Amino acid sequence: MEKPVGKTKIVSFDVDGTLVDAKFNDLVWLEEMPRLYAEKEGLSFEEAYRFVLREYEKVGEGDLKWYDMDHWLRHFGVRKSYAEILRQYAERIKVYPEVEKTLSALHNRFPMIVITLMPREFLEFKLEKLGDYFFRTFSTISDFKSVKTEQVYREICKRLNIAEHELLHIGDSWEADYVAPTEAGVKALCVDRDGKRNGSGLIKGLDEILTIL
Ligand SMILES: [Mg+2]
Repeated sequence: MEKPVGKTKIVSFDVDGTLVDAKFNDLVWLEEMPRLYAEKEGLSFEEAYRFVLREYEKVGEGDLKWYDMDHWLRHFGVRKSYAEILRQYAERIKVYPEVEKTLSALHNRFPMIVITLMPREFLEFKLEKLGDYFFRTFSTISDFKSVKTEQVYREICKRLNIAEHELLHIGDSWEADYVAPTEAGVKALCVDRDGKRNGSGLIKGLDEILTIL
C-alpha cells in the first residue's frame, strides 16, 4: 500500500460498510418495510417483499427518493415513523471490530469527520454507537441533495476550509469513496474487507490506516 501523498489535515470516514456493518440498512429496507406492508395489506411476507422490492427498483439508486424513508412509508401507506423504526432496530447496529481501536488512536492526531450518503436520520443512531470522535458530519443526501460526487467532495473541503489534498477519505464503495474523491483531488483509500479487488488505494481493514498515516 502506497502512502497517500502530502500533508493530511482531516480524516474522513464513510459510515455503512466502513465503520458499521451495512446489514443494518438491509434490516430496515428489506425486513421491516416489507413486514409492515404485509401487515397492512394482509399479505405474506414473501408477497410483500417481492412487491416492495419491485417498487424500489422502479425508482432506482439514481433517484433521491430511493434513500428517503418518509417517501417509502407514504408510498406503501404505512403509518409508522422512520424514527420509531430506526429506534427499534438500533440495537442491531454492529460496529466493525477494529473501528474503536483505529478511531481512538487517530483522534489525537487528526480531526475526524464522517461523510455518508444516507439521510441524516440514519446517521444519528450509528453515531451513538461510534462514540464522540467526529467534529463534523455530512450527509450528502440531506446536505447536498446528492449522492457522493466529485463536486460534493470539493464543496465539503470548501466548508471545512481546507485544500482538497488535505482531506483523506476512507470508504468501502469504489465509485463513491475512491473514484469520486480522487477526481476531486481528495486523497482516498478504499476498504476492501473481502479482498475482492486488486490495485492501488486498497486496505483490508481500518487499522491499516495506522501504519499508513
Ligand atoms: Mg459505504
